[in-house]
Amino acid sequence: MKRRVLVTGGSRGIGAAIAARLARDGFAVVVNYRERADAAQATVAGIREHGGDASTLCFDVADRDACARELARDIESGGPYYGVVCNAGTHADAPFPGMSGSAWDRVLTTNLDGFYNVLHPLVMPMIRAHQGGRIVTISSVSGMAGNRGQTNYSASKAGLIAATRSLALELAKRGITANSVAPGLIATEMLAGAPIEELTKLIPMRRIGQSHEVAAAVAFLFSDEASYITGQVLGVNGGLA
Ligand code: NDP
Repeated sequence: MKRRVLVTGGSRGIGAAIAARLARDGFAVVVNYRERADAAQATVAGIREHGGDASTLCFDVADRDACARELARDIESGGPYYGVVCNAGTHADAPFPGMSGSAWDRVLTTNLDGFYNVLHPLVMPMIRAHQGGRIVTISSVSGMAGNRGQTNYSASKAGLIAATRSLALELAKRGITANSVAPGLIATEMLAGAPIEELTKLIPMRRIGQSHEVAAAVAFLFSDEASYITGQVLGVNGGLA
């Protein structure tokens, strides 16, 4: 039987590329989304067209009760996960003096609380399955270096990195690795409205990255070859630091 992997926010952007890549590598992929069922279904259909195994699962990673409920139901019918990619994320940029409390809360509850809300119901079943496993969080260069207008986003991603490193220590003896992939600027809807030309000048490689380039890093961390790598942060950023 194929090993199951959950990709949060797997309906579009980087998450969809990760879902497609992991399905190609032989995992049974569960594509989580929050709102855009059409995008999630299109991602699943694309995977199936290429012979992959995929299904959708709708819940909001910021909603702790919904995560617990939906994931318990999902494990009951499909069994424990081998791997989880905590990819779902959002941003709400503003200079700090003008940042609303709701912008702060929305970003923190999605990007950081989402780590707890999704992984807490999944980790004990992973441990009990005694099959090892893989956890990858998608953080950001902003979580390492900070970024103007992104105090909320940077804080959430720095917290995500610290949570990933700590969980790696707790799960190491179970053969479950936990690592973070930290993208730089990647061409997705998240960059809509950003001054791409100006931003590109800051990137040593002088180009924006593509989702499949982030997916390749995740696929490596999911591979058997990465079995001794845990607690690490892998930048995918064209040299931007
Ligand atoms: P997109 O905005 O293109 O896609 C976001 C995905 O996350 C969608 O599938 C969306 O589903 C889902 N999502 C958002 N909020 C929730 C939620 N509360 N619960 C469940 N799913 C949710 O983003 P990207 O693909 O660009 O980003 C993916 C990850 O990569 C994020 O964590 C982001 O912070 C990170 N990243 C992105 C960078 C970039 O330049 N693009 C750079 C560095 C990091 P739906 O449509 O149903 O809401």
